[in-house]
Parts: sequence; structure tokens; C-alpha cells
Amino acid sequence: MKITISICAAALALACGAFAASPMPALIIDGQNNHAWKETTPVLKKILEDSGLFTVDVLTSPAKGGDFSNFRPEFTKYKVVISNYNGDPWPDAVKASFEAYMKNGGGFVSYHAADNAFPEWAAYNEMIGEGGWGNRDEKAGPYWYFKDGKLVSDSAPGKAGNHGARKPFQVTTRDAKHPVMKGLPPVWMHETDELYSKLRGPGDKIHLLATAYSDPDNRGSGHDEPMLMALEYGKGRIFHTTLGHDTVAMQCVGFIATLQRGTEWAATGKATQKAPKDFPGPDAVVKR
Ligand code: ZN
Repeated sequence: MKITISICAAALALACGAFAASPMPALIIDGQNNHAWKETTPVLKKILEDSGLFTVDVLTSPAKGGDFSNFRPEFTKYKVVISNYNGDPWPDAVKASFEAYMKNGGGFVSYHAADNAFPEWAAYNEMIGEGGWGNRDEKAGPYWYFKDGKLVSDSAPGKAGNHGARKPFQVTTRDAKHPVMKGLPPVWMHETDELYSKLRGPGDKIHLLATAYSDPDNRGSGHDEPMLMALEYGKGRIFHTTLGHDTVAMQCVGFIATLQRGTEWAATGKATQKAPKDFPGPDAVVKR
């Protein structure tokens, strides 16, 4: 019996190794968003394919108020699903199949306003850890931010989700050993973007990768706010990036590299990509 098991394990390891050598199937979902998804999805797709690690399909949902009866994403065909979606609730059958996909070891990337979506969907909010807008308030969970070396929460009542005027800002690594952040500078200047603050959610499983200071002089919270997060749901992994409001912010090498690494980590639990030579330092934006 023992021999049988070890042969199976060896065969599995071989299969996994062979699989990793060819690009992994990834799926971007879009179709509804209060952001310019028709412009940002092609950029997301290019960034991911440029890594050489992914082949990317795009699934566009029906328009707002449309008929979702034929919207049935085949999640299990993909190693990772990237959401550029912020719109109508998905049908219960789609929610259930996505939850099962994640519980069984799927990968998910919540990109920018994807964390505004689905305030009513408890499992989704567990996956992303925290979200904003969509009438979220204290019932969604506490506010989360970084203080004295750790993630802390504040259960004060109030609306969830805020940002000031778009401008460049520094992003600070909070776990330099995590595969997504390994080898990247401790602080880097991000291109003009929205700096999300005051997100709320179940949150206690958020593994903080990077934060940015939300400046009260720009309608900010005065806290170091989560920008990049890693989470787990069942056997699945989630990379949550609040960055990338538009195609300007998406040109930032910091956005590009962390999206590529975060998506690989969500898909496989590893990040094999080297830190790019043109990755920004603390003082100046670097774009591609
Ligand atoms: Zn935005």
C-alpha cells in the first residue's frame, strides 16, 4: 500500500512539473464596472501574457440588468481568475461554483474596483478580506489598517471606501519575505492612482503585503492603508490589489510586477519571477 502511494506522489510531482513549464490558463471577468473596463482589460491581459506564464481568456458578462441565465464561467478550466468586475450580483449557481473552485484550490485576483463588488456575498468578502462602497458600512466588518507593525481593526460605525484626488504615492512593503514581494524595494513610488482607504470587511485573514499612507491633506484617513494583500480561502489563494484605477496607473512598473507576481502566487502558491531591473525606488515613478 505504501509503495502505491509513493508512486502516485511521484507521478503527481512529475505532472505538476510538466504543467508549470507551459503557460497557465487564466480568466479575466469583466462586463460591468464603474471604471473603464473596456480599456483596462486589454492592459491586464497584456501584462499577464507578457510574463510568459499565462494564456488569458476574457469573459464579458451581460450588461447591467441583463439576462445572466447563460453566464456560467467555467472556473475549473483555469488556474487563476482575475476580476475586473463591479456590477450586478452573479446568479446563485455561479456564486456556488466559484466558492467550490476556490475551496478546492483555485486562484483569484481582486483588481482595484473588484473589491467594490458583491457587498451582499459573504464568501466573496471573506476572500477579499475587505471592500468599499456598495453601501458597505459597519455591518460589513471593521476598518482595517496597519499600525505599530501589524494589521489592526476599528469597528467604529461609518461608510466603507474612500479616496482622495489621484496623484503619485509611495507604497511600502510589509512582508519582504512573501513570494510576491521578495526582492522588491522596501518603498516605491507608484504612478498617479487612487489611494483607497477605509475599506471594511471580515479582514482577520488578510496577510498584508504592502501599504500606503492615506494623507488627511488629500481627504485621507491618516492611516497606513492596505494596498496589496494575500489571503486564503479553503485551499484557494487570493491576491488583492487595490491599485490600477486606469491605464495611467497601470503603466507603473510597480503595478505591473506586483500584478504578475501576485497572479502567479494565486495560481501556484509560488512566485518565480525576478524583480524587474526597472522597478521604481522611493522617489520617482517608473512607467512602461
Ligand atoms: Zn478607481
